[in-house]
Amino acid sequence: MSGHTKNSKVISNKTSCIFCKIVRGEIPADKIYEDENCLSFLDITPINPGHTLLIPKKHYENLYDLPDETLAKLAPVIKKIAIAVKKGTHADGINIGMNNESAAGQIVTHAHFHIMPRFADDGYHLWHGKSYSKGESQKTADKIKKNL
Ligand code: AMP
Ligand code: ZN
Repeated sequence: MSGHTKNSKVISNKTSCIFCKIVRGEIPADKIYEDENCLSFLDITPINPGHTLLIPKKHYENLYDLPDETLAKLAPVIKKIAIAVKKGTHADGINIGMNNESAAGQIVTHAHFHIMPRFADDGYHLWHGKSYSKGESQKTADKIKKNL
């Protein structure tokens, strides 16, 4: 089979994917939680100590191709880890994040959730909100609703 078929591309992505390597035990990670569907480990460059990632063990690129059943299995684990991170780090709050595509800051193309402990004095600020012109919000809502 040629190296250019769709199938072999997927295989080579999984082979080189850094998170798949962690799943296979080929590179180390500070593991937090594991079950048959998912793996959680500390982010190597935390926004604050305790910043944790949760990934499906199977390779999916991002939210768009993550099957609903897998997402449904991950959701309660996000909550479980968020509570453990909060208690374990004495965080004042928790941000949950997921970057999808490079424009949104995704660097590792294996779907993952960030569970980030926040502290009242940690100096991070969320982005400033823009404002809508008259009628723009309704048009925007309509455009989105058409795609549901
Ligand atoms: P994203 O920008 O959403 O793709 O985030 C990828 C995250 O993976 C970054 O926060 C990295 O610090 C983290 N990361 C990359 N390589 C590793 C690794 N080997 N172990 C743990 N975290 C990693
Ligand atoms: Zn992967």
